[in-house]
Amino acid sequence: MSHLDPERLALVAVGEAPTDAETAHLATCDVCSLELAEFEHTVAVGRSTVSLGELETPPERVWDRILDEVRSQPEVAASRIPPDAPVVSPPAAPENQPEPRRKPRRGRMLFALAASIAVVLAIAGVWNLVRTTQPVEIASATLDAFPAHPGAAGTARVTELSDGERTLTVSLDDVDESDGFREVWLITADASDLVSLGELDGKKGTFVVPEDVDLRDYVLVDVSQEPLDGNPAHSGDSIVRGQLDFS
Ligand SMILES: [Zn+2]
Repeated sequence: MSHLDPERLALVAVGEAPTDAETAHLATCDVCSLELAEFEHTVAVGRSTVSLGELETPPERVWDRILDEVRSQPEVAASRIPPDAPVVSPPAAPENQPEPRRKPRRGRMLFALAASIAVVLAIAGVWNLVRTTQPVEIASATLDAFPAHPGAAGTARVTELSDGERTLTVSLDDVDESDGFREVWLITADASDLVSLGELDGKKGTFVVPEDVDLRDYVLVDVSQEPLDGNPAHSGDSIVRGQLDFS
């Protein structure tokens, strides 16, 4: 059996009973168990803090899935919702809608439908939000001093957003007290090529890594001391350097 569909995991997270096959899979698959646990956490967060107005619209197939789930239940079949009945969209606050008196069962079903759509919306929205905004650390380096700069030390870490943008954050222990400035570089392992990321102002700086720079090639993070001589090339006076470790 392949991994469970994330939409199924979402529905299980909001309280739907998993099938025997799904239960068996969850018992043996760490990947799906972890994903389910994350969904459940998201549900808890979503129930406590999320306002639906802030969330994005979920993909059409999520709506279709919810409709299928609801229609497949005998109660709904009995209430004769036509297959192409318009879906409530987006889910209005259900508690403010008067319940139709003649069809109490259908009213309850619509309430349940709106509530489950609201929860799935919350999950999908929070999930999306988390995925697109949380930077993930993809590499880090310890920066060691060159002999001319004894006692210098620093760290570098590379994070990536879901849209692929990578940033390098460099921190040095000491402050620059020279007349010149410090510059951050990415250098290939064999030192055949290098690219400047910019000036390090103060002890810490964050730089966008150009899209065309492959960090597997440009694995060395270097901070140089640069004189104010107008020469854009590396001065040759490195303060610290370290190799990126891709965790
Ligand atoms: Zn799995």
